[in-house]
Amino acid sequence: MTADFRIVVLPGDGIGPEVMAACLAVLGALQQSGSGWRLHFETHPGGAQCYADTGTAFPALSMRAAREADAVLFGAMGLPHVRYADGTEIAPQLDLRDELDLYAGVRPIRAIPGVPLPLADPRAATVDLVIVREQTEGWFYGRLNPDRLPPASEAEAFDLGRITRAGSERLFDFSFALAARRKARAPAKGRVTCVDKANVHRGLALMNKVFWEVAARHADLAADHCYVDAMALNLLRRPWEYDVLATENQFGDILSDLGAGLIGGMGMAPSGDIGDRHALFQPSHGSAPDIAGQGKANPTAMLLSAAMMLEWLGQRHAVPALVEAAAHLESAVDRVFAERRVRPFEFGGTDGTTAIARTVIDVLATREFVA
Ligand code: ATP
Repeated sequence: MTADFRIVVLPGDGIGPEVMAACLAVLGALQQSGSGWRLHFETHPGGAQCYADTGTAFPALSMRAAREADAVLFGAMGLPHVRYADGTEIAPQLDLRDELDLYAGVRPIRAIPGVPLPLADPRAATVDLVIVREQTEGWFYGRLNPDRLPPASEAEAFDLGRITRAGSERLFDFSFALAARRKARAPAKGRVTCVDKANVHRGLALMNKVFWEVAARHADLAADHCYVDAMALNLLRRPWEYDVLATENQFGDILSDLGAGLIGGMGMAPSGDIGDRHALFQPSHGSAPDIAGQGKANPTAMLLSAAMMLEWLGQRHAVPALVEAAAHLESAVDRVFAERRVRPFEFGGTDGTTAIARTVIDVLATREFVA
């Protein structure tokens, strides 16, 4: 029997459509060799260009499709020169997080052998951590609740942060469950670090309190705490020591880019926005208008995000073949870099989006990725 899944594809703006096309080609090849599962892709509009063309950034039909899909595959949305009247950027990805209650932003920061890294210490090659970013409240709360803010003027403007017990509890439950799965695969793992600024902000003091309550329910896993400013330093000094970092929305946004830098650049960092009922997978990078339309984008982050989607679907629907396909895709990407078959423009090379995708497809076809 074949398990069928409906995947809503949102290519978006800038390099979004480019890395998405590469990703769909790779998934097509993977699908041909896999059995027991089938993905049905459905592409929908949305993003800054959509807003410029139609006056709507994210059509209701796209939102409905995303809500009804088994999973969403997302490229990138937003263009610096296309803005709403109040000057803010077009960012339907933020609306999707709220609409679908995608509270856990999962950003794996894993060094892939063969990829040039910015840290000289050889231990940098062993970096393997995951940032879990809370995505429905924190310092992004005021964005969707402007009526709760005093009016802004040319002289002053306000923002609003909100932390709830329930929001923190589900973030930490998710993070400890993730740490447990990671420990099952690698016994040295199994630690959750709460990253906050509990010494300054009341909301983050509440978050910190809830963290220790949840940690007490997971005596088999390690738990510790670090202020976000110290974490920024530690991630540069000894990132290999960390496992799961659970943090507030804005802090997670910032640390994710730092993390991507540690493993070679934005083109290497995948992500999943995960809730209890829905999930969306997208590269951590934005639409990169500076390189859009040139075929230079590194599609690796998009490919690894697709692998995360396969694993999430496989686990959620108990389809082991999908979990296996996710591992195959990840191994194929690893092999391409480990054997230095490609060198993306991002690292000063000459391999573009299509060449990288084609090389991954070649490796999948030969099944050379199987250990
Ligand atoms: P956002 O605010 O939407 O996260 P951003 O403006 O912070 O986006 P990105 O669009 O992610 O930034 O681009 C940051 C830098 O990284 C740019 O120089 C861009 O060219 C580069 N970059 C991003 N993604 C890729 C990629 N897939 N391949 C190569 N370079 C990339």
